[in-house]
Amino acid sequence: MQLQGTILSGYDFDLIEGTIIIENGQIVAIEEESTSSKNIILPAFINSHTHIGDSIAKDAGSGLSLDELVAPPNGLKHRLLSSAKPDDLISQMKRSIQLMGTIGVAAFADFREGGIEGVRMIHKANLESSVDAIVLGRDTIEVLDIADGFGASGSRDSDFTQERNSTKTVNKLFGIHAGERDKLDIDTSLELEPDFIVHMVHPTSEHLDSLQNTNTPVVICPRSNLVTGVGLPPIEDLLNHTTVALGTDNVMLNSPSLFREMAFVSKLFEIDPRDILRMATSSGAAIFDLDYGVIKPNKQAKLLVLDGDSNNLSGSSDIISSIVRRAGPADIKQVYL
Ligand SMILES: [Zn+2]
Repeated sequence: MQLQGTILSGYDFDLIEGTIIIENGQIVAIEEESTSSKNIILPAFINSHTHIGDSIAKDAGSGLSLDELVAPPNGLKHRLLSSAKPDDLISQMKRSIQLMGTIGVAAFADFREGGIEGVRMIHKANLESSVDAIVLGRDTIEVLDIADGFGASGSRDSDFTQERNSTKTVNKLFGIHAGERDKLDIDTSLELEPDFIVHMVHPTSEHLDSLQNTNTPVVICPRSNLVTGVGLPPIEDLLNHTTVALGTDNVMLNSPSLFREMAFVSKLFEIDPRDILRMATSSGAAIFDLDYGVIKPNKQAKLLVLDGDSNNLSGSSDIISSIVRRAGPADIKQVYL
């Protein structure tokens, strides 16, 4: 199996014209040679934070505050989730996973509500998919029997020490929302030594130092933050201190598209497009220990092939910027997962 075109190679996305040789799903070589192909080959995306359970409630509750929308147990989202039929939940989650697969997402990390049953549902929804689901269960420690880890709502809701200790015992992930509406839950979250923190809209300089010293990665969800009115994360500061990955958060609020998330970030912040593309690929792979997210020999070949000659991308004078700022599903020629 071979793919030809302009290859975004390595962690710096060096542009190489040539061929990727793939054997048994692995990149075995990148051969530099001239080609007439206008294809652009990049790593498939990693969506580092989702809640696809609320795919049943897209665009419900517009104008509501963060608490009214998503705070457990009485936020609109949780009321809609608990009143939904399991089959509907599963089929809508399945459709969000299918969507992610068609728009270039190789893996997503989901905080799944509903305890063990909730985790079972997302596993069912993902049965026939080639997209990898990293599922962090909630509500009870027992989710660790079948989930990839525990996804804590936030240290305001509970102490979570026991959950954290259990994840350590079984060597699974512990992630937690923190610093979303204000800075008050950041210290208590850092004390739990999480594998990653979601949001971090409001860190102080001490918090940034502490992220750096403890090597704690952050997943940011800027579109979600804007919708819920909590502000925007200081992305540049975060990038200067730790690994930062992008997530699209609740499907209720946003489509799970990294194209949209990247374009949004690139237009609101003065950030190198390479940093933004890394946040959508290799940084998530680093947090979740995935053997892809970068085009290099010996990595799994999970790749996205764009048509560099599409009406949207032809005439680009900076391929990486164009991928980050304007590319979309219509430019996709192939998703190789
Ligand atoms: Zn979340």
